[in-house]
Amino acid sequence: MDTILVVNAGSSSLKFEVFLVASSMQRLVKGQVEGIGTAPHLTIKSAGGERLTSENYPLEAVPDLPAAMRLVGEWLRERQDGRLIAVGHRVVHGGPNHSRPARVNAELLRELEQYAPLAPLHQPNNLAPIRVLLERQPQLPQIACFDTAFHRGHDPMTDHYAIPAHYFDEGIRRYGFHGLSYEYIAGKLGEIAPAISKGRIVVAHLGSGASMCALYRGGSVESTLGFTALDGLPMGTRCGQIDPGVLLYLLQQHGMTAPQLQDLLYKESGLKGLSGISNDVRDLLASDEAGARLALDHFVHRIGLNAGALTAALGGLDAFVFTAGIGENSPAMRARIAKKLEWVGAFLDQARNEAGDLLVSSDDSKVAIYVVPTDEELMIARHTLALIAA
Ligand code: ADP
Repeated sequence: MDTILVVNAGSSSLKFEVFLVASSMQRLVKGQVEGIGTAPHLTIKSAGGERLTSENYPLEAVPDLPAAMRLVGEWLRERQDGRLIAVGHRVVHGGPNHSRPARVNAELLRELEQYAPLAPLHQPNNLAPIRVLLERQPQLPQIACFDTAFHRGHDPMTDHYAIPAHYFDEGIRRYGFHGLSYEYIAGKLGEIAPAISKGRIVVAHLGSGASMCALYRGGSVESTLGFTALDGLPMGTRCGQIDPGVLLYLLQQHGMTAPQLQDLLYKESGLKGLSGISNDVRDLLASDEAGARLALDHFVHRIGLNAGALTAALGGLDAFVFTAGIGENSPAMRARIAKKLEWVGAFLDQARNEAGDLLVSSDDSKVAIYVVPTDEELMIARHTLALIAA
């Protein structure tokens, strides 16, 4: 019984899933270590949702990501049957050249470390478990799956910023992110609606990180995310698109330092900053306060504007797809966003939307509207198997 471990390491949590390699990929367990370095807690559930473990650890036992990786490894070795044949990692940044996942060796790890300044809150954490495993189990294949890779087929013209061109060569360009999610959705649409999947599609990945992607013939042609995961839509705590003049003003007139600015833009902005209440759409929907209303109105407004821009990039729209936490779970938000798409001929069916059907557009809608749950972990597991099989 061969298994694949999928790892998604963040700043204070390590999420993981184990897949059984059978005729199709089958999820066995799913878990996370949270509160790394503060109040470590390990939870693991079976694929059916049954809790297998839920345990607190002293801070000293799990001070950092390598320790969390060790904890997960021990649990899996003791409690999980099967032979681990490879580990697939979510790596946010693959730089300008990686258009597909890659097997990790010391050389690739050094290359990926160079991209840490491009994704300071994610890349170092993504690489930490890879480094540990490479040292401890060099024979175990590790595959890095990049959030940027799916967007590397863009026309290079679209990935420029209008600053002197040598900066593009230095790596200051629009990379786009959430690529594993968009790749999964593109594949899933191929099963659900084969004819439409080859057409002009806008996918809205609306979670605590949020972005939109224009797909044509199943590939990405445009994304709202750019050089970093700050661009495009406002997110839970990130600002989204902002006039760079605002940053100059804050640096020059408020005397802000770069770390203060980074904190403001990544952690204190978006829905949280606008509302002054919460970064969670559920809290904002439940609130009567003016801040909550402002934040949601602004979020919906910006999604509408960006949908227009991506529709222009595609020269029309055949389908619109909602995915991720907000897109998959909130009929109220889908209804509000769909209102902004009526000009392009996209109309929601209220009953289908409330029921959370796969197809939520009305029969007379010119544009199909879908709700497709994303599965980045399954995408990583598939890539990992494909690469080691090759
Ligand atoms: P990520 O993986 O980026 O952390 P998710 O895709 O899990 O995020 O989305 C998390 C967000 O989804 C939450 O912050 C919350 O705002 C939103 N969300 C989840 N469930 C609902 C719901 N039922 N209604 C509205 N928003 C929801």
